[in-house]
Amino acid sequence: LFAGEVEFLKGVVAMSGLPPADRPEVCFAGRSNVGKSSLINALTGRKGIARASNTPGRTQEINFFTLGDSYYLVDLPGYGYANAPVQVVAKWQALLKQYLQGRQTLRRAFVLIDARHGVKAVDEEIMALLDSAAVTFQCVLTKTDKVKAADRDPVLAQVRAALARHPAAFPEIVLTSSEKGDGIATLRGIVAGID
Ligand code: GDP
Repeated sequence: LFAGEVEFLKGVVAMSGLPPADRPEVCFAGRSNVGKSSLINALTGRKGIARASNTPGRTQEINFFTLGDSYYLVDLPGYGYANAPVQVVAKWQALLKQYLQGRQTLRRAFVLIDARHGVKAVDEEIMALLDSAAVTFQCVLTKTDKVKAADRDPVLAQVRAALARHPAAFPEIVLTSSEKGDGIATLRGIVAGID
């Protein structure tokens, strides 16, 4: 489904720039540095397709990729920068809210959570936004290779407890390591199964 078929389409800074809502789409959200670019690169099998262009000074774009003719894959800007200017955050939140609430063809959001850190307050905010927009979301743990198996359980329990508070949450959590390739085929299968 994915390899060789993924192309960068455009970066969007306003609702007027969205491509036509003519196919199902999935989006990826997560705190800056969570490993989102690495995961999208691993998922699509294209190194460097998602650039780590996540510095607060850069334009906060919603990046659209095409997966063949069948899907859009959407890379949302990383959130939770300690030093991001207030007006940058406000502008991005407004666009995010409009996008999530207005995009008819958005089938699922993947919310990336660092396996070392679990769900943080900013993640809860995104989850609450997804609830209010009635967008089903699924959690993806990233960088699982950085955590010993025994240390994963408390994090998983914390994530499960967070998900239980959010009506739009999909119960299954996907464990991934872009570094090792763990969980990537599983996630690819999940995306491919969405229609
Ligand atoms: P983004 O800001 O969310 O796009 O995060 P990046 O994909 O740029 O990753 C942030 C940092 O985490 C980089 O130094 C990556 O090499 C590292 N990283 C990302 N995924 C993994 C992973 O699965 N395992 C390990 N060990 N490091 C990772």
